[in-house]
Amino acid sequence: MTDAGPAQPPFGRVERVLAIAAHPDDTDFKAGGTIAHWTAAGTEVTYLVLTDGAAGGEDPAVPRAELAAVREAEQRAAADALGVKEVVFLGLPDGELTAGLELRREITRVIRRVRPQRALIQSPEINWDFLPDIHPDHRAAGEAALAALYPDARNPRAYPELLSEGLRPCIVPEIWVMTSPRPDTWVDVTDVFDRKLAALRAHTSQTAHRANLADGIRSRLRGQAEAGGLADGRLAEAFQVIRTEQAAPPVDSTR
Ligand SMILES: [Zn+2]
Repeated sequence: MTDAGPAQPPFGRVERVLAIAAHPDDTDFKAGGTIAHWTAAGTEVTYLVLTDGAAGGEDPAVPRAELAAVREAEQRAAADALGVKEVVFLGLPDGELTAGLELRREITRVIRRVRPQRALIQSPEINWDFLPDIHPDHRAAGEAALAALYPDARNPRAYPELLSEGLRPCIVPEIWVMTSPRPDTWVDVTDVFDRKLAALRAHTSQTAHRANLADGIRSRLRGQAEAGGLADGRLAEAFQVIRTEQAAPPVDSTR
């Protein structure tokens, strides 16, 4: 073993990554292993969680405000387990996400502050092969994040109030889509599976009752590794990677 980190393209190291998702736990389920690789390579990862997650959980007796606080703490613990330094919560009501201009502006605000070279988002499309992921909040989060990344964040005419807050336009060259119906990039997460699992277990309100959590996750990751042509027995997270330079010429790309 020469280098534990994923060094070869398209996994080259970047300075900053912003992961945008609807609920606490979404990013950890789909990309926790990949994030563990990135933080180990020195990349600063920021999570942006759009809703308060207060519609999740098994116990309807827990009040929404209480569950929201629990899920925020769980997401912070999961982020810690993966080496993620910053978690931003928009705190919107879980189950009610829509990809309107207001949400796009709030995501744009965070993009322009963090200035990532790579973003991780949910898929605006339904992946019929992965039915647990048909939650409408996931698609709304994917749609709004994609629009915020392209073109809003780079467009000086979008949300002029952000310019007056000192938030300059920002080009994000790479977008990694989780649970895309057409993945084209597989990250081997075999060696960081335990860290991903630790992050998932930190979401106690969502995972404590799942006796087969480890087996279920392992089997999904093994299937993805197979689909990606990795060696037998390996585990992989799958993404569709979009390079926004192909959509428009970059003017301030940091790479
Ligand atoms: Zn979710």
